[in-house]
Amino acid sequence: MFLTPHFLTGAAITKVVPNKPLAYTLAFFIHFLLDRIPHSDHFLSGISTGRKNKSFYQVVGPIVIDFFVGIALIIIAHFTFDNFALWPAIIGGILGILPDFFNALSYFNYKKNYLLLFKGQPLYPVEEFATQTKNPYYRFHRFFHNEKVYNGILGTITQLAVIIIDLVVLLAL
Ligand SMILES: [Zn+2]
Repeated sequence: MFLTPHFLTGAAITKVVPNKPLAYTLAFFIHFLLDRIPHSDHFLSGISTGRKNKSFYQVVGPIVIDFFVGIALIIIAHFTFDNFALWPAIIGGILGILPDFFNALSYFNYKKNYLLLFKGQPLYPVEEFATQTKNPYYRFHRFFHNEKVYNGILGTITQLAVIIIDLVVLLAL
């Protein structure tokens, strides 16, 4: 799932759950449940071409934009409607995307991909990592993640629905 629905869900939880430690814990773990929903996703394979290749940035660029869309929506929503506390929402949002950040760390750690990245060489392929890695965290995430690829309308509608529900919670409740 894209980062924006994860970010907004983590943020929305901090509004409906008054107990902050509980809200932050839920913000993190609900990520795995959201990933069960059929969804489209970023195409990651180009990242293994390495940082000297254009394909690398065609993967990283949309992910960075996706991250800033989530954070921007929260900030704009807060200052427009003043209907929820900003910092808990941002912390909840970051916790909501942290599981995917850990995925990225797992990938860059796979067979020392980070060294290849540093040297500007091609990395071990994402597909190889996804199926071969023994990293317990990554396998935990993959266990929950809906691995079927829904890059059609359905995969987009489900994420839009999540975003709309989150915005209703943040703005209207
Ligand atoms: Zn995920």
